Amino acid sequence: STNRETMGFQTEVKQLLQLMIHSLYSNREIFLRELVSNASDACDKLRFEALHNDAMFENDSELQISLSFDKDARTLTISDNGIGMNRDEVINNLGTIAKSGTREFFSKLSGDQQKDAGLIGQFGVGFYSAFIVADKVVVTTRRAGEATDQGVCWESDGGGEFDIEMVEKATRGTTIELHLREDQDDLLSGHKIRSIIRKYSDHIVQPIVMKKEEWKDGAQVITEEDETINQASALWARSKNEISDDEYKAFYKHVGHDYEDPLAWTHARVEGRQEYTQLLYVPARAPFDMWDHKAQHGIKLYVKRVFIMDDAEQLLPSYLRFVRGIVDSNNLPLNVSREILQESKDIKAIREGCTKKVIGLLEDMAANDAEKYTTFWGQFGQVIKEGVGQDFANKDRIAGLLRFASTHTDTSDETVSLADYIGRMKEGQDKIYFITADSFNAAKNSPHLEVFRKKGIEVLLLSARVDEWVVGSLTEFKEKSLVSVAKGGLDLGALEDEAEKEAQAKQADEHKELTEKIEASLTGRVKEVRITHRLTDSPACLVADEDDMSGNMARMLKAAGQ
Ligand code: ADP
Ligand code: MG
Repeated sequence: STNRETMGFQTEVKQLLQLMIHSLYSNREIFLRELVSNASDACDKLRFEALHNDAMFENDSELQISLSFDKDARTLTISDNGIGMNRDEVINNLGTIAKSGTREFFSKLSGDQQKDAGLIGQFGVGFYSAFIVADKVVVTTRRAGEATDQGVCWESDGGGEFDIEMVEKATRGTTIELHLREDQDDLLSGHKIRSIIRKYSDHIVQPIVMKKEEWKDGAQVITEEDETINQASALWARSKNEISDDEYKAFYKHVGHDYEDPLAWTHARVEGRQEYTQLLYVPARAPFDMWDHKAQHGIKLYVKRVFIMDDAEQLLPSYLRFVRGIVDSNNLPLNVSREILQESKDIKAIREGCTKKVIGLLEDMAANDAEKYTTFWGQFGQVIKEGVGQDFANKDRIAGLLRFASTHTDTSDETVSLADYIGRMKEGQDKIYFITADSFNAAKNSPHLEVFRKKGIEVLLLSARVDEWVVGSLTEFKEKSLVSVAKGGLDLGALEDEAEKEAQAKQADEHKELTEKIEASLTGRVKEVRITHRLTDSPACLVADEDDMSGNMARMLKAAGQ
């Protein structure tokens, strides 16, 4: 027709398609999970928009997803009566990747299929996974509330381009027709499709329907009658003991838009002044955009089972921004907006509840599954550290979750908790000693450690950027103060014997003339020159004053142009 237009995919989409088809082939069934997940999201979005504008329903408020297949045409079709898309949305959503972190992702690809297959899972596969099983995909869609001549047809073979055209579409929503590749005929079976849905999409809230099949005269025939093939109930509203781990994991992949299993989750119904259900997951891997402050974070908010919004970042503090999942409130009004959320006392209470739940989950993991906690810390430890300065109310519990490198192991792995450290303190030691530096090696080889190594006193080796802020806000743990070994006139208290102290005072006296001379020649560059007992091998070192910023902090600020 006249308005048909051919457009090119964004370069990254082309790369993604190539990779996906080859590397995810062995896990091809996930395409259905992805398409059903999108259909469900589209229904959620429509239900939400219709709260404010009932006309969006076009007199049909029974949201559902339907699946069908045609053996002769060798097509599989997924349809929904959700929000649909207009032309611009189709071009953006099905022609580009809008996700933040996309550039980093593509720069990490190695060309080695095996390695890249792992990466692609982390990145997320989404709509484009249709091309794992199809060599032609036709999407017909119309946005809810638009005229019937505002339908859009998108078609592609998964090469470099797609065609787009305006069409007539009587019903709102989206239909995706997959023309299956040569070897995909096993998908043209009601039995097969039902079993994939049960495995991956049983938890989808909307009914997923197929035409009922019947045996007639020894042959299977497809009837005209619709039949729901999933549980079609909100998973989080069911009681915990009725939900299997596999169901929890499948639901995570839908809400978390993730390809991998989660590391852990917590599911609870909270009663009292605020009534809500929370189902919160810790992913197994940090998302690509964890450090991108513009990226969307947060969890899905529902009010009485009705989807309200994605990425409700007010529901958790930013140091828990990697957590995924849902909160379903019984108290909030259905017309709640982002602006209202920001000021809502109810949200504040929910946020406090969710925060405590996640911290509890992590404490539990740390106590009972060290290996899992190591994985967790490796992925999210640097974000958790931000919490010490951000969340005053939970500071001590967060401090308990922290892990650091230390002279105990002398490796850069962050494995030492403050409690471990305290458990190993020397007799007479009442402080937690640490050193900050801009690299692990600089910390480990610092001359400030010499006396500690000599006396066998453990020192935490802090070299992450955020560590400066951690020790800036965390001055004590379990009544033991945290002390920098690079600051002030190091007083080792009971760790030194009287003879040592006397000898030091005597030396300082004896060399007074020399230190004064050095001080004079460094006027304006140092405050004071002292005889030290910190060092055993090095002749001299720089120390900061007790309440000055550390040398490392000064370097960081200087590097940041301040
Ligand atoms: P994601 O679901 O993580 O956003 P996808 O690749 O699965 O990524 O989908 C890309 C976008 O395409 C979706 O965010 C949505 O805007 C749009 N989309 C996909 N499928 C549908 C659908 N059935 N109805 C409406 N919009 C859709
Ligand atoms: Mg999706």
